[in-house]
Amino acid sequence: MPSLIVLAGPSGVGKGSVVAALRALDPSVWVSVSWATRARRPAEVDGVDYVFVDEQTFAAEAARGGFLESAEYAGHHKGTPRRAVQEHLAAGRPVLLEIDVQGARQVRASDPDALLVFLAPPSRAELEARLRGRGTDDDEVIARRLAIADVEMAAAGEFDAVLVNDDVEAAARRLLALVRGAEV
Ligand code: 5GP
Repeated sequence: MPSLIVLAGPSGVGKGSVVAALRALDPSVWVSVSWATRARRPAEVDGVDYVFVDEQTFAAEAARGGFLESAEYAGHHKGTPRRAVQEHLAAGRPVLLEIDVQGARQVRASDPDALLVFLAPPSRAELEARLRGRGTDDDEVIARRLAIADVEMAAAGEFDAVLVNDDVEAAARRLLALVRGAEV
């Protein structure tokens, strides 16, 4: 049974909603909270959605090897704190990382046993509609996220499993089955 699970997929695909639904189904799965240097969105809570830090603090943490993986995304940095992940794995809990494709590749390189799951939108039009519907980003940011999404979609074949997020509950159930070591 894999104990380190990566959920990647384009921004706006609904990773956060699927992870929340998964946690409701099985609270024993521990979800890592990343550090991020981008601005906090109004609905986000510091320490819950991300630990929000400035670029200098992030760089210092990266320099001392504090991140299991990290990536630059749309001009800002995000990273997974190494110690918390290791502590939960050592305690025997499944750990889920919700990160981007660059980060997924780093995890694969450092831990070949990690399970890499790609969450795909039902279609590109649906992804664009979700990014716009979120109402948090302006046109330029959305265009950047869609361009990144196109590159990320091309990487789906590198993953152990691809889940289509046509229904949040159903996707969460299939993800939980993967976490528990079943084939879907
Ligand atoms: P957002 O800015 O919309 O919250 O996230 C943008 C992208 O960054 C998403 O694909 C998200 O999964 C990814 N991301 C969030 N945290 C991390 C992290 O710690 N590492 C990496 N590599 N990507 C992350």
